[in-house]
Amino acid sequence: MNRFSNQVVLVTGGSRGIGRAIVERFAAEGAALAVLDYDRDELDKVGREWKEAGYTCMTFPVDVSNQEQVDQAVAQAVSAYGKIDVLVNNAGIAWEEPFLDIQAQNWRKMLDVNLNGMFYVAQRVAKEMSAAGSGSIINMASTNGLVGEAKYAHYNASKGGIVLLTKTMALELGAFGIRVNAVCPGYIQTPMSEAIDSPEFIEEYIRTKIPLGRVGKPKDISGVFAFLASEDAAFITGETIVVDGGQLAF
Ligand code: NAD
Repeated sequence: MNRFSNQVVLVTGGSRGIGRAIVERFAAEGAALAVLDYDRDELDKVGREWKEAGYTCMTFPVDVSNQEQVDQAVAQAVSAYGKIDVLVNNAGIAWEEPFLDIQAQNWRKMLDVNLNGMFYVAQRVAKEMSAAGSGSIINMASTNGLVGEAKYAHYNASKGGIVLLTKTMALELGAFGIRVNAVCPGYIQTPMSEAIDSPEFIEEYIRTKIPLGRVGKPKDISGVFAFLASEDAAFITGETIVVDGGQLAF
């Protein structure tokens, strides 16, 4: 399939994990990519691999919680490619911390990256899309944005915020031909989740919580982003798609 030939896709947090799988999925379907990530070394390394693989891809070392850096990178991407058709607003951070121990600076850090960062990128890109009269924005939420999980109050609050940010953007941006949706993955094996949980924890988690009997892989999520950005999803906006192996069916 070459559904995204002649389309430009901007992905945040694209140098590893789910974001990297999303970049590679859109590139495989013909898109030109602009990838923003704050891990400059990883971005340089993966950017070289993508060029060797023949992808049309620009990389920008950007911290999404820095609005000025975001504005500059989006302006450079638009100046190089002429437009942005799809935004994959994926960059995020997570760590475990009991509610009673969360210091204000940790609370702010989580919200700065996961919620404020998504707002900065979404608003800047939506300004380009609204002028063009079309676009698709897909925000990365989580099952943690729909139900609580102990020791993740700051993370859950950030992801819950994204779910309602998504719905509100869909209400306001539909008139400009822009669709806005969110994806809520369950447990996906990535550097983020591997840094938090032990193999024993993951085994128990699968046994007790995931009907499909396994954790997700980044490619379980990347195809859903491609679907939401495609013509097959032309009448879907304001939606939140859960991709969790059945976890929330309990
Ligand atoms: P990851 O840590 O493997 O990758 C995250 C990427 O975002 C990294 O490349 C990192 O450098 C980048 N990033 C982090 N902070 C940034 C910042 N301030 N500016 C720019 N880039 C930044 O994580 P992942 O598991 O691939 O998660 C990707 C997204 O999916 C996150 O929003 C996460 O909350 C969400 N998510 C993950 C899971 C899971 O189980 N892994 C489940 C639900 C939702």
